[in-house]
Amino acid sequence: MRLDPASVTEKDLDRFWSYVDVRGPDECWPWLKSFNGKNGYARFCAGTNKQIRCSRLLLFIMQGPPETSKPLALHTCDNPRCVNPLHLFYGDQLDNMRDCAAKGRNAVQVNPDIVRGVRNGMTKLTAEQVTDIKRSDLSQSALGRKYNVTKHAIWRIKHGINWRQHSVAA
Ligand SMILES: [Zn+2]
Repeated sequence: MRLDPASVTEKDLDRFWSYVDVRGPDECWPWLKSFNGKNGYARFCAGTNKQIRCSRLLLFIMQGPPETSKPLALHTCDNPRCVNPLHLFYGDQLDNMRDCAAKGRNAVQVNPDIVRGVRNGMTKLTAEQVTDIKRSDLSQSALGRKYNVTKHAIWRIKHGINWRQHSVAA
């Protein structure tokens, strides 16, 4: 059965990241858990026999559900086992067939937002607040209420630490 990405909890996400070999921002991040037998795509399981492609789950967390015109969860790197959020984008069938170089250009339009964490309400936060969020022991939900942003925004800031540690240019 298809796992609804909106039902995925923070606990699930902690488990998700424990299955990822996190590398530098330009490298592929190999998924260490299970794969779809037919096409080799990394898949994440939660609940009772429910699963979702890792690429689709990550895009949902970062950008929300896809627009109907761009329903596919695609990789710029053409590596179905990769779960580097910076290598993922929503696209259509035409994007899917374009060459890698074109897909790379597409992704560049998305990437800086994700890396710098300015999407979806995070622009409301000052640098000091972001630092406080990173250091705080409060739950992600509590931090979201405190700063009036979504808990997913908090989640991205928390995980942004990892990305920035690896990031030189950003
Ligand atoms: Zn990749």
